Amino acid sequence: MSKTIVAASTPTGGAVAMIRMSGENSHEYVRKLCNGVGKQSRTAYFATAKTDTVTDKCIVILYDEGKSYTGEKSAEIFCHGSKVIVNEIIKFLINSGAVTADRGEFTLRAYRNKKIDLTEAEGILDLINSETVEQAVNAYNSVDGKLASTIRDIQNELKKVIAAVEVAIDYPEENVEEQTVDDAKDKIKEIIDEITVLTDSYADGMKIKNGIKVVISGKPNVGKSSIFNALLGYDRAIVNKNAGTTRDVIESEYVYKGRKFVLTDTAGIRDGGDETESEGIERALAELKGADLIIGVGVAGDEYDGQENIIAVSNKCDEKRGENFAVSALTGEGIAELKELIYERTDFDTSGLKLNNLRQYEALSNAKRTLIGALNNKQTADCFSIDLTEAYDSLGKVTNVIGSDEIIAEIFSAFCVGK
Ligand code: GDP
Repeated sequence: MSKTIVAASTPTGGAVAMIRMSGENSHEYVRKLCNGVGKQSRTAYFATAKTDTVTDKCIVILYDEGKSYTGEKSAEIFCHGSKVIVNEIIKFLINSGAVTADRGEFTLRAYRNKKIDLTEAEGILDLINSETVEQAVNAYNSVDGKLASTIRDIQNELKKVIAAVEVAIDYPEENVEEQTVDDAKDKIKEIIDEITVLTDSYADGMKIKNGIKVVISGKPNVGKSSIFNALLGYDRAIVNKNAGTTRDVIESEYVYKGRKFVLTDTAGIRDGGDETESEGIERALAELKGADLIIGVGVAGDEYDGQENIIAVSNKCDEKRGENFAVSALTGEGIAELKELIYERTDFDTSGLKLNNLRQYEALSNAKRTLIGALNNKQTADCFSIDLTEAYDSLGKVTNVIGSDEIIAEIFSAFCVGK
């Protein structure tokens, strides 16, 4: 029987706090703390919590075994958000026999009790950490079990193929085995395509998660740092009339239309300068290679010939209008339009489920590799079946990694206490 765990699930400082308990004795400990808690599961009771030191009016919800987030008997206490009240209530519950929860322990218990699988747990973590609408929407696809059910469907198709091959092995009549393997191969091609849809979505999933990388580049003093600040909407980088002020790479994020962008200001590219500036220029050039989009400031039209991911910008249009996309970081002219153009130029289809987790990506890629190997190897039906089973197990690892305590520990250590 697992110990009853307790933790505050809300950060301190709000009007209301939620303290959560999970485990066999959670109802008993709540009753010791509160008057007025009835017997119904999933019912809100208006109760009075009384510790040795403080009293508070609370809402209490009890959950019966199998009816809670963790799958265990659980309780939630909504008290006033004072740090003192929360601490005193938790202290009281610990004195009653509860232990403090580890990071992500509620979700870990939900996983161990099969209330959720790993993709759902990872989705919950992404949802908690989401900073943009797109991140929240994509995370919910996993929380909702969409990824898990897609994987299960693929596994079920594969299971049928494995069963058919196994039957053919048991009845080795003329041609039967060969024909079954041929049919199986057609089906495996379809399954590979289905896995590819998921693995191909990984690049877009990472864009949603990590943001679109936009790098501002150009000669010194053209106004790169000023445009950087204007796009961000606050003064992040130092602006100076002296060339060579920005020496290192400066990175900041902004959100536009629910999408995350990572904006990078780089050292102005010129010959000469001291050692630090040269190092800055090296770094600036390296940044350009990893950029989804480059804002080339004050560049001549032909300077970035052959590169498609560039918006050539003429800054200081308040003084003189250049030949490229005109902005003035000083007056703000053209900055909103530039932001929109950056969005349009890097736009991609965000609909549907996008994989954004390396662990899931690797397990799926592994399954795909094994299936491609099974298709291409000239082998007996026996060996073919072994390959298919290996791919089946790889798929299973996306949702469930039985017996691998280290992986489980790593996944759940990223959670906060109280989740
Ligand atoms: P960087 O070296 O390319 O990063 O350029 P900065 O952003 O540091 O700007 C260099 C100089 O140009 C500073 O004196 C800025 O005040 C000035 N500057 C930047 N943008 C504009 C603009 O749109 N109009 C005018 N008139 N001056 C600007």
